[in-house]
Amino acid sequence: MSSIRTYLDHNATAPLRPEARAAMLAALDAAGNPSSVHAEGRRARQIVEDARERVAELVGARPAQVVFTSGATEANAWVLRAGWDVVMAGGIEHESVLAPARSSGAELIELPTGDIGSIAPAAVGAALERGAVGSRRALLALQLANNETGVVQPVAEAAALARARGVPVHTDAVQAAGRLTIDFPGLGADTLSLSAHKLGGPKGCGALVLRDGLELAPLIAGGGQERRRRAGTENVAGIAGFGAAAAAARQDLARMSGVAALRDRLEREALAAAPGALVIGAGAQRLCNTTCLALPGVAAETMVIMLDLAGIAVSAGAACSSGKVGASAVLAAMGLPAEIARSAIRVSLGWCTSAKDIDAFLAAWAAIAGGRGRQRAVA
Ligand code: PMP
Repeated sequence: MSSIRTYLDHNATAPLRPEARAAMLAALDAAGNPSSVHAEGRRARQIVEDARERVAELVGARPAQVVFTSGATEANAWVLRAGWDVVMAGGIEHESVLAPARSSGAELIELPTGDIGSIAPAAVGAALERGAVGSRRALLALQLANNETGVVQPVAEAAALARARGVPVHTDAVQAAGRLTIDFPGLGADTLSLSAHKLGGPKGCGALVLRDGLELAPLIAGGGQERRRRAGTENVAGIAGFGAAAAAARQDLARMSGVAALRDRLEREALAAAPGALVIGAGAQRLCNTTCLALPGVAAETMVIMLDLAGIAVSAGAACSSGKVGASAVLAAMGLPAEIARSAIRVSLGWCTSAKDIDAFLAAWAAIAGGRGRQRAVA
């Protein structure tokens, strides 16, 4: 076993970028509370406001529209718990969207997912017919890109339909941020959630971006931080890291075609080396960094362990739902046969992925796929 590890699980969390690390270390020495009026407080405030600008720039928003939170889970919960009568959402949404929607008591209208993993605008239109009736407060939740398949959803088209019926739209942009250009006003969404650690910032920090004029009762009440929208003394170091990561991720957008080329080569050679293997969502528009690969006959957990032993980190479905028994809810929502869903692994590339990482993955994958017959005979 090699002691050099190959990290291909950026959708679970991306390694910390050096720029984020440096910004965090510097911010740890800023002694003041950003709410204090003295010089130390103003210094901490400056760090937070600089980061807000960087995060806003990443998604084409204005700084005043960005509210820092403890992560995307909190940002999603804030929106989903805002007292809706009806929530329209697909089964491919992240649990941090679906769980608060379910427990909020709202009627949940499930948007059907097509077999390539995308939700058709026509399905959104049909749900709006059913959900946006009378004076009921309805919300459409549609992620920008899926965490397991990387499939990009038609948020701008869906938002136009929702807007025509007066229905606000929330988009979870956690996986899309830093991987495709996001134009918050152009998307037409009312709220958008972000997570720092998926783009090379620290874990435990995120943001909700809100369109102007939108009133959302705070999820966390207390002090008047974040213009009275999110109480609690700011996580100054975390926010500083988020800002630096957002700036670096924005710079890196120009390099995403290189990431796409690495991902495409990985898929091409992985399929050639393993007859019967397939890429889930291959026909859809996908993020440049994600591939969901299935090798029917080899359970995803087995593949993940064998790859780990070979020095390669990937995941079986979403990291936050792995550990649970059963096939991924995302793949189930796509209607994939259980045999395929059970063998699907997620390989996700990012800012520090090199051709050598792809070589290492392909060598291990080919060895495991080649040993399939032997494994069956032993079993
Ligand atoms: N939404 C999506 C699509 C995600 O992939 C994740 C992270 N797994 C989250 C939300 C939650 O983000 P956080 O870890 O910042 O709470």
